[in-house]
Amino acid sequence: MTRSFDAIVIGSGQAGPFLAARLARAGRTVALVERKVLGGTCVNTGCTPTKAMVASAKAAHTAREAARFGVHLQGEVRVSLAEVHSRAQTIVQNSRDSLGKMLADAGCTVILGQARFVSAHEVQVGEDTVRGEQFFINVGARAAIPKLPGLESVSYLTNSSLLDLTELPKHLVVVGGGAVGVEFGQMFRRFGSEVTLVEMKSSLMHREDAAASALVGELLEQEGVQLRLNAKCLSFSKEKDGICVHVDCSEGDKEVHGSHVLLAMGRVPNTDDLGLEAAGVEKDSAGYIPVNDQLRTNLAHIWALGDCNRRGGFTHTAYNDYEIVAANLLEGADRRVSDRIPARATYTDPPLAQVGMTEEEARATGRELLMATRRMSTVSRAIEKGETFGLMKAIVDAETKRILGAMIFGVGGDEAIHCILDVMYAKQPYTTITHAVHIHPTVAELIPTLLGALKPAD
Ligand SMILES: Cc1cc2nc3c(=O)[nH]c(=O)nc-3n(C[C@H](O)[C@H](O)[C@H](O)COP(=O)(O)OP(=O)(O)OC[C@H]3O[C@@H](n4cnc5c(N)ncnc54)[C@H](O)[C@@H]3O)c2cc1C
Repeated sequence: MTRSFDAIVIGSGQAGPFLAARLARAGRTVALVERKVLGGTCVNTGCTPTKAMVASAKAAHTAREAARFGVHLQGEVRVSLAEVHSRAQTIVQNSRDSLGKMLADAGCTVILGQARFVSAHEVQVGEDTVRGEQFFINVGARAAIPKLPGLESVSYLTNSSLLDLTELPKHLVVVGGGAVGVEFGQMFRRFGSEVTLVEMKSSLMHREDAAASALVGELLEQEGVQLRLNAKCLSFSKEKDGICVHVDCSEGDKEVHGSHVLLAMGRVPNTDDLGLEAAGVEKDSAGYIPVNDQLRTNLAHIWALGDCNRRGGFTHTAYNDYEIVAANLLEGADRRVSDRIPARATYTDPPLAQVGMTEEEARATGRELLMATRRMSTVSRAIEKGETFGLMKAIVDAETKRILGAMIFGVGGDEAIHCILDVMYAKQPYTTITHAVHIHPTVAELIPTLLGALKPAD
C-alpha cells in the first residue's frame, strides 16, 4: 500500500513529535514514523529515567549524611533498585503517553516501524510505501560499541539495558568518563554498588573546563568510586563470577574485575539503516548528516534535526532545531542554528553547568580576557545547605565586556547559570548582572559578586 503525506517525520526524538504536531496544526497532512516507542532517547533511555534515578541516588546519599544535619535514622540505608526502576518508569510512561496524546490531538498519523528511504520522496515502512513532499529526519543516536578485543565474549550493558536492571550490581565497571559514565558511576555508588570508572584520557569529562574536570574526579573519589585513568589498550574477558577489563597492555597485568560492565564510550547516529543513499542524502564519515544553518540537508526538501546532525547532542538543542525549522517554514522567519549559544549540564550531584566557552576555548581565541572564580564554599546558600563542593567561573572579553563563557559546578548551578546565559543572548555586557539585585540567599545571588571580581587573565 502507498500512502501520501505533505510531511513525513522519521523518529520521535526531541524535535520530531513537536514539529509533526505543529505542521499538522498548520493544516498539513503529517505522518510520524517511529521504530520503537514514542519519545526517543531522552524520554525512554536518557534524560528522564536517569534524572529520576539521580534523584533516588540523592535521597540515599542524603539519608546516609543525615546525621550531619542533626537528623538520626535507625538502621542501614538500603536501596531497592526494583523500586527505583519502577518510579523512573512511571515518569517515563507518563511522558510517553503525553506525547502520544499531543500527536493524536494534532491529527498526526503515527506509523510504528522502521523507515528506510527507497527514493528521494518515499520511505518503506514494513510492507508499506509512504510518500512525502517534505521529510524531517530525527533518528537520534545510540550507544557506540567500539570493536575492542574480547568484547564479543562478555555481556555488557549500555545506557539502555542498564535501565532494565532490578537488582544492584555488586561491582559495576563503567568504561568511559564522559557525562553518561560519571552520572551512572556516582548514581550506582550511591545505590550501594562498588563502582570502578575506567577512562582512557588522564581526566574525566575532559572536554569540560580543566578545573571542573579535575574536580569531577575528586568528587567521585570522595564518594568511593575507584578511578582508573589513562587506561590504554582496553580489552575484556569473561570470568567465573563476572567480567575482567584489561586496562593496560604495556605494563602487564593491570586488570579491573567486576560483576557488570557498562559501556559509556560515546554515541553513533542511527543513520546506517535509513537508506540515505537511495534518497541521495549525504552523510559524513561518522554517519552524521551535514546540514546548513537552517538544518536543511543537501536536498532542499529534507531536513535533519537533533543528534543525527551533530549540531547539538542534547535535548534542548534538538528541541531548538524543531523551533528553528518550524519558525522558518511556518512563520517566514530566518532563524539559524549558529545563533545558538552552547549550554549544557552534567547531572552529577552537584551538577556541572557550562554556557558559552570554557576557559581553554576562550584562551584559544587569543582575545584579552577577564576572569573570575569563586569556590562554592564561600556561597551562603551552599553553606546553609551543607553542599559546598565545587567552583564557579566567568570569562569575559576584556574589550567588549561581553561574557564569553561561564561554569558553575555546584549546588543549584544548573539553574543559576541561566541568568548568565540570558545576558549572553541579550548581547549585553556583564555589568548588566553586576547592577542587578538578586534574591538572598540563592546561588545566583553570588553571580554579580563573581563578576564584580573579574581580573585580567594571566
Ligand atoms: C544516558 C543519557 C542521558 C542523557 N541525559 C541528558 C540530559 O540530561 N540532558 C540533555 O539535554 N540531553 C541528555 N541526553 C541526550 C539526549 O537524550 C539526546 O540529545 C536527545 O534525546 C535528542 O535526541 P534526538 O531528538 O536527536 O533523537 P532521539 O531522542 O535519539 O530519538 C530518535 C528516535 O528515532 C527513532 N528511529 C531511529 N531510526 C529510525 C528509523 N529508521 N525509523 C523510525 N524511527 C527511527 C528511534 O527509535 C528514536 O525513538 C542523554 C543521553 C543519554 C544516552
